[in-house]
Amino acid sequence: MTERIYSTDSYAAEMTASVVRSDPDDGRIMLDRTVFYPGGGGQPCDIGELWIGDDRLTVTRVDQDAAGVWHWVEGGMPAVGTALDGKVDWDRRYLLMRTHTAMHALCGVIWERFQSPVTGGNMNPGEGRLDFELPQWDPEDKAPIEAELNRQLALNRDVEVSFLPRSEADLDPSLIRTKVNLLPPSLQEVRVIDIVGLDRQADGGTHVNATDEVGQIRVKKVESKGKGFRRIRLELTTPTAP
Ligand SMILES: [Zn+2]
Repeated sequence: MTERIYSTDSYAAEMTASVVRSDPDDGRIMLDRTVFYPGGGGQPCDIGELWIGDDRLTVTRVDQDAAGVWHWVEGGMPAVGTALDGKVDWDRRYLLMRTHTAMHALCGVIWERFQSPVTGGNMNPGEGRLDFELPQWDPEDKAPIEAELNRQLALNRDVEVSFLPRSEADLDPSLIRTKVNLLPPSLQEVRVIDIVGLDRQADGGTHVNATDEVGQIRVKKVESKGKGFRRIRLELTTPTAP
């Protein structure tokens, strides 16, 4: 029921929309269209505000179910049919886009060097972690991986979004960079994020258009997560987009 504007235009920060469902018991509304990312793939959901005329509601959380995208609001509970304007907290969201693209670039760099799958990951604005099955890791690898990642980002590779029919996506196992295929069997269309020439994978998140928007990163820490598994922590060292 919800048109997911963020899925094709990650730079859209504002929208007009109307309420299609209202759930006062839970303090949430579903909208017919939204720029708010509901979270997933390690990227946290957006927060922001909705305006009904001069009345401001705060969006404290966003999530999705099979029906559409739910927005938890404070400051009032608009009825079905209400028209409103929405605006995400753009500084936070843009930092998450830069962070998310950095994480995919790390996937690409680790894949090129070790052919290691991802076993988990998470991010916050400006920092994140990815877990890899990485039995070959040596502490000496940290500096060259960081250097290679920064080199790749500085090449200013394009980041492209496309959609593949499920049947086609299933023929390309390299699209699934996680060790376990997390795509629900019911999914008919697979969204693909391609850092052209570096990393291509199925993903629902929001990304920047080109890798130089990420700026520079630092590999903060590499931790052992059991035999053969490593957790790599990254942070963006360029506070705002270069
Ligand atoms: Zn991702």
